[in-house]
Amino acid sequence: MNPNINSKDQPQEDDQYGVLLYYKYTQIPDLNDLFTFYDSNCNSLSLLGRVRLSPLGVNVTVGGKLCALKKHIAAVESNSLFEGTDFKLAACGRPSNDKVADECGFTSLSIRIVKELVTLSCNPLIKSPEISDAGKHLSAAEFHSVLQKAGKLDKESTEHNRELVLLDARNLYETRIGKFRTPNVETLDPGIRQYSDLPSWIDDNSDQLQGKSVLMYCTGGIRCEMASAYIRSKGAGFENVFQLYGGIQRYLEQFPDGGFFKGKNFVFDHRISVGSSDANILGACLLCSMSFDDYSSRLRCTYCRMLVLVCDSCQRKDSVYVCELCQNHHKGVGLTSSIENGRMSSLPSVETVSLDAKLSCQMPCRQATGSPRKLRILCLHGFRQNASSFKGRTASLAKKLKSIAELVFVDAPHELAFIYQPPSAVTESHHDHISPQGPPPPPPSEHCKKKFAWFVAPDFRENTESGNWEMGDSPFDPLQYQQQTEGFDESLAYIKTVFAQKGPFDGMLGFSQGAAMAAAVVFCPTNK
Ligand SMILES: [Zn+2]
Ligand SMILES: [Zn+2]
Repeated sequence: MNPNINSKDQPQEDDQYGVLLYYKYTQIPDLNDLFTFYDSNCNSLSLLGRVRLSPLGVNVTVGGKLCALKKHIAAVESNSLFEGTDFKLAACGRPSNDKVADECGFTSLSIRIVKELVTLSCNPLIKSPEISDAGKHLSAAEFHSVLQKAGKLDKESTEHNRELVLLDARNLYETRIGKFRTPNVETLDPGIRQYSDLPSWIDDNSDQLQGKSVLMYCTGGIRCEMASAYIRSKGAGFENVFQLYGGIQRYLEQFPDGGFFKGKNFVFDHRISVGSSDANILGACLLCSMSFDDYSSRLRCTYCRMLVLVCDSCQRKDSVYVCELCQNHHKGVGLTSSIENGRMSSLPSVETVSLDAKLSCQMPCRQATGSPRKLRILCLHGFRQNASSFKGRTASLAKKLKSIAELVFVDAPHELAFIYQPPSAVTESHHDHISPQGPPPPPPSEHCKKKFAWFVAPDFRENTESGNWEMGDSPFDPLQYQQQTEGFDESLAYIKTVFAQKGPFDGMLGFSQGAAMAAAVVFCPTNK
C-alpha cells in the first residue's frame, strides 16, 4: 500500500483506494434487472459499501480501488437511465479504523431494494413529496455567487432581492463541525438528530422560510431533493427554494479554500470528515468546550446514540455522555443537577427492553443523585380516539399523580375517516353514543378533532380528505377489532420517533388498542 495516496500523479494508480458516491432520481423500469447488474458488477470489481435501489432511483456509496471504481462508473454510465448522474469520486486512504469502517458499512457489500432512497419522515401522516417538485439546482459556482452577491447588497435594490436564508438540511452532529457562514445571510441549523425529524422542524419554523429565498444544502445533495420538495409543497411563499447541486462535496472541490463553507464536511464513509485547506475547527468538546472536531473515537450519547465530540483529554473509560439535545430535554424535568457539562455524575440504571438500542436506552433511567424527577409516562389512546380525548379521560388520574408523574399524550399515526352512522344502521348498532330514536344524527361540526388508530383493518385506506364526514355504509361491527391486524410497523416506527423527540419515558399507559400497542412495543423482538 502506498502511503502517498492523495498525490495526484501516483505512479501506481492501480493500487490507489477511493470512495465513490452518487445518487440518481429516475423511474427504474426493472428493479430486479438493476439489482442483478449491481450485484455482478460490484462483486466482480471487489467494491464494498452500500447500494440502495428504489422504484424512483438509486443511492450508492462504495469504496474500492480507484481503477475499479472508474470501471464501475463506466458501466453505470453506459445505461441511459443514469444520464447526467453526478459521480463523486475521491481518492483516499483505505479504511484503517475497523470500527469506523464497520459503522460506515465498508466491511461488506450491501445491495438492497428499498421503498425510498431517503426516508423524509417516520410519521406515516407525512407523505413523501414529489421529487419532481424539488427546489432548483444551483451549481457550486452559482450557489457561491448568490452568497457573494448577497454580501454586497445594500438597501438600494430591495425590489428584486428577496431576503435570503441558508438552510442546512443535515443533522446536528454534522453541522457541529462545519457549515456555511456568510456575513450577510443567516444560516438556519435545525439541530436535528436525524433526517426524519426535518419535516417537523420545517413545520414548526415555516415562518422563518416563508416569503424568502431558501438556499438549501447537505453533504452530497440527496437529502435536499426531498426536503426542498417538502418545503415547496407548503404552497404560497415557499416557491423560492434552491439546492446546492452535488452538496458540500462538490462545493469544496470547486472552492478548495472552503469558500463560504467553514469547518469540515462530515461524510458517511471511513474518511469521517473532509476539510478544506482552511484549518478552521468549528466543533467543540462536549465536556471542556475546547476546539475539537474529530469523530474517530465514535463516542455516542448514552440516551439517544447520537455521535458526540469529546476531546482526547476528556475521554474516560465507561463514561456516560449526554448530548446537547438530551441535556436540553432533561432540563425540563429536573435532571440538570446530575449532568455536568455533558457527563453524567453517576451511571443511570438503564433497563433494556427488547425493541432496539435506540429505544431501549431511553427507557427508564432513574437518577441516584440529584433532585427527584417526575416519571414520564407515554399515553396511547384507543381506537377512534385521539391524544386530547385520552387526556380528558385520564384527567383525574393525572391530577392524583401530579406530584410524581407527567403524562405525555400523542396521536396514533393512522388517521381515520370521519364516519357516522346512517339512521337504519343505528338501531342495530352497538354504538352507544347514538340514540336509536330521533332524527338521523347530523354530521358533527367541522371543528371536530381528527381520530386515529394504532392498528387498522387490512383494507384500511388512510383518510385523505380530512374534515369531510361521510355516512358509514354499514353498521359498526362490534367485533371490528378482530380485523384490525395491520399498521403495526408504521405505528412502531412512529413510536420510535416519539421516543427520539419527546423521550425518554419511564413507562407507557395504554387504553384498548393503545394498551395492545404498548405491550407490543415492550415485547416485540429486536427488529433490527
Ligand atoms: Zn474536552
Ligand atoms: Zn442524546
